[in-house]
Amino acid sequence: MIERDVDLFVIGAGSGGVRAARIAAGHGARVAIAEEYRIGGTCVIRGCVPKKLLVYASRFPDAFEDSRGFGWSFSEQPSFSWPDLVAAKDREIARLSDIYEQNLKKAGVAIHRQRATVAGENLVRLADGAMIGAETILIATGGAPHVGDFAGAELAISSNEAFNLPRLPEKIVIVGGGYIAIEFAGIFAGLGSAVTLVHRGDKLLRGFDEDLRDEVRIGLEKLGVTLVLNEEVASVEAGEGGGKLVRLKGGGAVAADELMLAIGRAPKTDGLGLDQTIVMRDHEGAILVDPTSRSNVPSIYAIGDVTNRMNLTPVAIREGHAFADTVFGGRPTSVDLTNVPTAVFSTPELGTVGLTEAQAREKGEVDIYKARFRPMKATLSGRDDKVLMKLVVDAGNDRVLGVHIVGEDAAEMVQIAAIAVKMGATKADFDATMALHPSAAEELVTLR
Ligand code: NDP
Repeated sequence: MIERDVDLFVIGAGSGGVRAARIAAGHGARVAIAEEYRIGGTCVIRGCVPKKLLVYASRFPDAFEDSRGFGWSFSEQPSFSWPDLVAAKDREIARLSDIYEQNLKKAGVAIHRQRATVAGENLVRLADGAMIGAETILIATGGAPHVGDFAGAELAISSNEAFNLPRLPEKIVIVGGGYIAIEFAGIFAGLGSAVTLVHRGDKLLRGFDEDLRDEVRIGLEKLGVTLVLNEEVASVEAGEGGGKLVRLKGGGAVAADELMLAIGRAPKTDGLGLDQTIVMRDHEGAILVDPTSRSNVPSIYAIGDVTNRMNLTPVAIREGHAFADTVFGGRPTSVDLTNVPTAVFSTPELGTVGLTEAQAREKGEVDIYKARFRPMKATLSGRDDKVLMKLVVDAGNDRVLGVHIVGEDAAEMVQIAAIAVKMGATKADFDATMALHPSAAEELVTLR
């Protein structure tokens, strides 16, 4: 057997790649990892983490207003500094990125802070020209935002840039009806920007339960977001003072400081050297892998968004861990992608796990339990808030197939409810659980 430089070379130090590298090293493998940008990847640097920090920031104006109902008053209007928020967010992601790096070093993983590409089935080429022989190569390069295909698309930003805009836009047009479009619509509207959300469909959040889709739309409208549905961008022109004139296919136009596209993300495999191999990819460039994350080339594996299976950080982390246990830990492991909870951090946020009502009805008879109620806090704040809770139950065996919530802390509630769904809890199990009063979550065990 040829002596390789390392047992495992990981390309991409995002959440999945870092987990795989650390666990493999823990199993005794000689591991190297390459990252061309910053350690931490999309989630830490320009995704989940900074997004959630911005979401928190965007909710304070409502909290200030609501506090009046509870006896608070202010002699001065609160003011907001976007540069201060961006700087605070940057400090936090630098701290997290450093922790990721320290953890890799502690695990004995060699870090190459440069681009790496695949030069052969067991060979990696670094940007500085070095060639590294690897028994196994793991591709964990993630994804990148789709760009527009209309005239002037280069004037648009993606979520990557939205995190670091020099100033808060007074007016912003956001295109898309998925996770990112909706989360950023909530962020910018909450912080005071005038937001226009342009979506090509007639409803937001395709694939989610219909009731959640309706509720999120109501939430965005309450935030003051202007929804332009069944519409697409035709072209963009540079306007006065750095502004943009966004022309729509239906004939209208919207002037804004920024145009942000959130029209999906594509796996990052271009220029990765995969054409030097016979690694199979789909039409979007995603690496095709088996349940152990192995490609059709036995020495090359891929995890996370670059495989376009379920593009969520915790999934990539589990895939990375399972890969390392399988290949280096002598413990074949695959990741179960059923009943994965997920949240959209809109305001109010949504959390969901399991089957939507429509998906469940395709499989058989279902019972639906639903409540839409005013949360307790809204009694004194006077805010016209609603919480929506919905259980989708198999009418045959009483199993809870789906839990869907819109409202404050929906993500927190659904994470816990997901344990019950994963365990196969029945509606009777939910009902047998004592309510925790007063809470919003108690509604889950009292639905009739
Ligand atoms: P999504 O796939 O969620 O949504 C893409 C949206 O863009 C859809 O509404 C789609 O419409 C629309 N769209 C696609 N192509 C075009 C086009 N050419 N012109 C106009 N509209 C278009 O992608 P996102 O970019 O929002 O997010 C990417 C992924 O990142 C998510 O799928 C998710 O996996 C992950 N993510 C997860 C988060 C979380 O867990 N909270 C947060 C952010 C991202 P249509 O429905 O008609 O196809």
